[in-house]
Amino acid sequence: MKILIIGGVAGGATAAARLRRMDENAEIILFERGEYVSYANCGLPYYIGGTIAERDRLFVQTADGFINRFNIDIRLQSEVMFISPKDKTVSVKDLKNGEEYAESYDKLIISTGAEPVKLPLPGIDNPKIFTLRSVPDTDAIKNYIEQYKPKRAVIMGAGFIGLEMAENLHEAGLEVDIVEMNDQVMAPLDFSMAAMVHQHLKEKKINLWLKEKVIGFETAGNRLNVLLNGDKQIETDMVISSIGVRPEKQLAEAAGLKIGSLGGIWVNEYMQTSDEHIYAVGDAVEVTNPATNLPALIPLAGPANKQARIAVDNILEGNKHIYKGTIGNSIAKVFDMTVAAAGVPAKILKKLNVDYLSSYTHSFSHAGYYPGSLPLSIKIVFAPKTGQLYGAQVVGFDGVDKRIEMLAQVIQNKGTIYDLTELEQAYAPPFSSAKDPVNIAGFVAENILKGKMKVVHWRDIEAIDSVKDFLLDVRTAHEYSLNHIDGAVNIPVDDLRNSLDKIPTDKRIILYCGIGLRAYLAYRILIQKGFTNVYNLSGGFKTYSSVMCEQSCYHEPDNLDENQNEINQDMSNTKIIQVDACGLACPGPIVQLKKHYDTLNVGERLEVKATDMAFGKDAESWCSITGAKLVERKNEAGTVSITVEKVREADTTPAVSMGGNKTMIVFSDDLDKALAAFVIANGIAATGKKATLFFTFWGLNVIKKKQKPAVKKDIFGKMFGMMLPSNSTKLALSKMNMGGIGSRMMRIIMKKKNIESLETLMQQAIDSGVEMIACTMSMDVMGVKPEELLDNVQLGGVATYLERAEKSNMSLFI
Ligand code: FAD
Repeated sequence: MKILIIGGVAGGATAAARLRRMDENAEIILFERGEYVSYANCGLPYYIGGTIAERDRLFVQTADGFINRFNIDIRLQSEVMFISPKDKTVSVKDLKNGEEYAESYDKLIISTGAEPVKLPLPGIDNPKIFTLRSVPDTDAIKNYIEQYKPKRAVIMGAGFIGLEMAENLHEAGLEVDIVEMNDQVMAPLDFSMAAMVHQHLKEKKINLWLKEKVIGFETAGNRLNVLLNGDKQIETDMVISSIGVRPEKQLAEAAGLKIGSLGGIWVNEYMQTSDEHIYAVGDAVEVTNPATNLPALIPLAGPANKQARIAVDNILEGNKHIYKGTIGNSIAKVFDMTVAAAGVPAKILKKLNVDYLSSYTHSFSHAGYYPGSLPLSIKIVFAPKTGQLYGAQVVGFDGVDKRIEMLAQVIQNKGTIYDLTELEQAYAPPFSSAKDPVNIAGFVAENILKGKMKVVHWRDIEAIDSVKDFLLDVRTAHEYSLNHIDGAVNIPVDDLRNSLDKIPTDKRIILYCGIGLRAYLAYRILIQKGFTNVYNLSGGFKTYSSVMCEQSCYHEPDNLDENQNEINQDMSNTKIIQVDACGLACPGPIVQLKKHYDTLNVGERLEVKATDMAFGKDAESWCSITGAKLVERKNEAGTVSITVEKVREADTTPAVSMGGNKTMIVFSDDLDKALAAFVIANGIAATGKKATLFFTFWGLNVIKKKQKPAVKKDIFGKMFGMMLPSNSTKLALSKMNMGGIGSRMMRIIMKKKNIESLETLMQQAIDSGVEMIACTMSMDVMGVKPEELLDNVQLGGVATYLERAEKSNMSLFI
């Protein structure tokens, strides 16, 4: 059998090698227009950036290697000009000498790939404008960078290749602007997930021009002006045009082969074109997406390789092997982030008028208590009735690849969100959690489908009507004080049961918390307490805040340099204290920031590193409240790093009164309530306000010493002493204490999640100047002696408390 192959890279080279392995006697001729076969297009951006150091590593196989090992007739620089299905011939032009000749075939495989879209814009032929598809394109870019040492590059189009190039040119030392006409990067993602990528690009000092259209190019001396809509322009040294690809179908079209509705070569499930002797594979063909059963153009290397294998098997064995379609399982590294998607995003389902539900979950790459755990966000879209998983998107810093594969398998097999709840993952703390983020995504979706939780999405928040809706923030007071959704009322979830009277029964209640978990707990409390019209904001404040902040971003280059100079210059002369707060949950990092900031002298700097992703924003708010100078905020490999400078001595006073002090009456000795009191107190102190805790009645048990001196007590004092918790370590939970098992469990869980223990929180409060007052009247009633209380506790009566409350703008009763 004589088989011709057009195209010698992913699909073509795979087909050739498979053919030879299966049929030693076949005559196989491969035509490739370019100078190289079987190279790794996917590696090209990384060679430009220098991550792949040696050019030779890009070649999976050379033409000579192919000839020697596979005995294939490789014809380089040979362009197939025409296919004649009637005669079963192709006409080929030898690009080395311009000669044309015909070659006959028994079977033909087309793997001509996809070409970069090039818009006919004024000035588009400027030699400073590049596209990237092949090795020669790569050489041209690399040579240009080495020869002309460009300082700035504009990337046109923010798809996967555009973002990979942005990273690699940035790594090569260029300042990079990305111009994208849509409102988001990476088309396979929904806006809400892309928003997290936008924030990451901003952190990396990439200029992101969203909703901006390039309308032309003009020469500007040695440079090039990229003209945007609305008289804007960017002066640059080079441009990479990466606005998408389209199937190279011209040959097939001219040969009269059927073309699909989206413009790719039509093939059946055997990868056979409308002519029985011609098969086609790779980027040039139109496939079916099993998630929608609709045609799709999905230019990816994995499908091209698999289709080639199937086409070859069908050619040699008769049409027996079926290609089941492509779900577009794709992944990209965007600086420290990994971004992946499979199936169909919500925005496409909306366009197709397909009913769907969606859900966001924010988890961690592995068990929070094991070092190096990093945030990982998942969005899934699924059918409202059956729960069929239509699409999944994962954004994070570690373990994204594993999660998208798990989700993709379910999508590919037309599975449901119920399958996600059952997927069994290999678990040990360094790799996952007992409930993997994918299981969590399934659990949440199941709750939604089974009516255990109704959700609203970030887009719904805009339409909130305060007459009809009650927006309830159930995070801690500290979190709320740092940032919250306008109009939201704060009742921390732990206080909810005691605050039900503050929640209207005639309004729709929309709950939110950091990521959706505490709001779900609040949701279940409210539903079981008789509230019916309750909703949880899916993805919580994390999703909401990332979509609501400015998405585009332009860093003034001069300022950038100045800032950088300032950072470098000052760093060499200035004392910088470094604090590692990685693994600590909120408010741990901010408490560390405050604690160490207080030790600085004016002009000194503090660098705090944390893995709590909210820390960056929290620290910014903290600086604006305290007047500390935020020198730098970096986000690297999933770690937020903040550098602050003390600019005036006034900032050094711990917990100074600034008219906005807060007081709390701690009446309860429940472990959970004591924890809440000290978390809030530390949060208050961290913002520079004075916090006063007034311990009365049972609350006195919280501040008793562990080692108490012998004191004289009357009979009632002795009885109380015997019956009540003797110090903070003996406190019980207000609910589910179960004879002390609950409180022990709580302490274990807190430790696992890196949440400070009550005792540490108390010490932090003492260190940050939180005032603790014991009510003398209660002490008297309960027979508590001053010597039994912690050294830092002052004694006072109601007047002392009222005097503090007078100077405060918030009083809590706990
Ligand atoms: P190609 O590999 O493009 O090969 C087509 C070949 O056909 C070309 O060499 C062309 O010269 C030749 N040809 C065309 N017409 C003729 C003719 N008339 N005569 C002779 N020869 C002809 N995919 C991923 O899954 N992951 C990635 O990370 C990824 N990164 C990428 C990065 C870059 C920079 C690029 C350009 C692509 C990337 N891709 C990635 C896409 C992936 O490379 C393609 O999906 C895959 O190569 C498609 O294989 P193909 O055989 O259809 O086409």
